[in-house]
Amino acid sequence: MDEKTVLVGRIAPTVKLPKQGSRVVPLRQAAPLRVDVAGGGPVGLAFACTVKSLLGDGVMIRVHDRRWMRQGDRVVWKGNAEGNNRREQVVTLQSNVWASLPLAVQQRLFAPGKFSEMWPLGPDSPASKGRPRNIKIRWIEDCLLDMAQDVYGIELVADAYAPPAKFDGLHVLAIADGARSATREAFSAQFGTPSRELFSVDGSPLDERVLGIRVTAKSPDEHTVPLTVAQNRFLFNSLGGGFINMRLTAEEASEIVALGESGPVSCIGKFGCTMRPSGNGRFVCDRHRSVFKPSVDKLSYLWPRILDGLRFFGVGVADVVGINSFTLGMQQMSKFTAQLAPSTFGFLLGDAANSLHFWPGRGLNTGLKSALSLAVNLQKRWRGNAFRAADFAQHEGIMQQLQYREKSRAWTTMLMPDSEGTPRGIEDRIREGLQGPADRAALVKTLYERVLEIKKRMGDRMGPLATDEWYYGRVNAMDTRTLKVMVESGAWITREIGGEEVEVPSAVPAVAPEQPSNRGLSLVG
Ligand SMILES: Cc1cc2nc3c(=O)[nH]c(=O)nc-3n(C[C@H](O)[C@H](O)[C@H](O)COP(=O)(O)OP(=O)(O)OC[C@H]3O[C@@H](n4cnc5c(N)ncnc54)[C@H](O)[C@@H]3O)c2cc1C
Repeated sequence: MDEKTVLVGRIAPTVKLPKQGSRVVPLRQAAPLRVDVAGGGPVGLAFACTVKSLLGDGVMIRVHDRRWMRQGDRVVWKGNAEGNNRREQVVTLQSNVWASLPLAVQQRLFAPGKFSEMWPLGPDSPASKGRPRNIKIRWIEDCLLDMAQDVYGIELVADAYAPPAKFDGLHVLAIADGARSATREAFSAQFGTPSRELFSVDGSPLDERVLGIRVTAKSPDEHTVPLTVAQNRFLFNSLGGGFINMRLTAEEASEIVALGESGPVSCIGKFGCTMRPSGNGRFVCDRHRSVFKPSVDKLSYLWPRILDGLRFFGVGVADVVGINSFTLGMQQMSKFTAQLAPSTFGFLLGDAANSLHFWPGRGLNTGLKSALSLAVNLQKRWRGNAFRAADFAQHEGIMQQLQYREKSRAWTTMLMPDSEGTPRGIEDRIREGLQGPADRAALVKTLYERVLEIKKRMGDRMGPLATDEWYYGRVNAMDTRTLKVMVESGAWITREIGGEEVEVPSAVPAVAPEQPSNRGLSLVG
């Protein structure tokens, strides 16, 4: 052999370099990696863009989503008219996550005015990378869908994913079609059946009902952080407005009813519809024209409690732009990686892999970590030949770590321990607060001191907070019953849920350490 063989680039096409003076031999390219993605939500799209940014022409990717449609030569999100309720929630991305996304993606996502920094530094947002960033999930989806088409040239299929009878030449199927993944279900023989056993109380799976109240905010986002962290009934995540989430008891949840002309209709409780203001303090569903019962029921227990929650964050009913409701529960997966055919491996990503309680705000972070881990693993292991199970040992290990870390955190939040360490679910705490005698002065003092303590603790990890007087005003504006619920619900158990985080590989090339300067050194005497 009179040629040297060298490997060029990361995907290793073989390049034959001729001996000096001999004929140039054409390059022999390795076959591209073929990837299908089921589900083009934030995780499916982030995965596709990241793999493409890492492997370039060495990969062919196709992403399917049923919430898309074709418009001329582009793929766009379906809207209300096509039965798609775009999600409006604000999510908090930790800097260990956002700083690991491809640089082009970071630049597009974090355009001025499109994000805010509300939460403090912490183990998953170290000072070296920056603060967590609040961003609208809808904006993430819009940016990634555009980038998939305009920057990365990814094939987009505006339709539901249907598992094929045979995986002709497909190497990777990434399953990112959300918590109720039909694709995971179709491959349950390979992935196993998720179990709710570990997330049950007295033999029944624990589900929580939460009300999401979308508001436009008047106070700076970060001023509300100590109010959120001082109790567990309401959580406000904002980007100049956002969702005030409210945890409910089963009795309160039974009040989440939509009324049609001739009685209750399936709407907010069943289809996740959003009830919007329609004058006179009424909230109505665009789709079913039904009314949110608590907003018109003078005997409602729930409505005054909702209004109190708004007041806590300095928001009035006129600032509410929508109300919806959802149920949160968790299940344990046995594995996240499975061989689906001799040369095809399947991977569960995002909510299809780990659907979490969102109170500690980790669902999308965990989903993006899973996408980054698989993308970097593929880049490392793809050599143009069929994969073997061993190629994914590292990725599967990270997925199992994520499941352990994130579900332990979320479960601890769902069943918060009391001062003796005995688990006490949020419902019990709220019920306790709603009953019995209450000493208003003592409740105001307890909650106000908690808020000030948290304000002091967070002081050096975030921007300037509001004055003590402003916080006193917020606490003192509460009805006594709401105060008692807030005090009983307890402050966030930051010690119990904090600690080391699962690190995943980054898609951003490491910056080469600076070469030590030779100035002043001389090799010759
Ligand atoms: C109120 C609320 C607040 C939250 N706050 C935070 C937060 O602060 N921080 C955080 O990290 N996370 C948060 N989360 C969680 C976060 O929103 C989810 O973890 C995230 O949306 C999961 O992304 P995904 O792409 O895996 O799934 P999804 O967003 O569910 O996307 C799945 C996609 O698959 C598509 N699809 C479904 N079935 C099919 C099929 N058969 N074929 C083709 N396509 C299909 C769907 O159309 C959808 O586009 C919050 C969630 C809620 C509800």
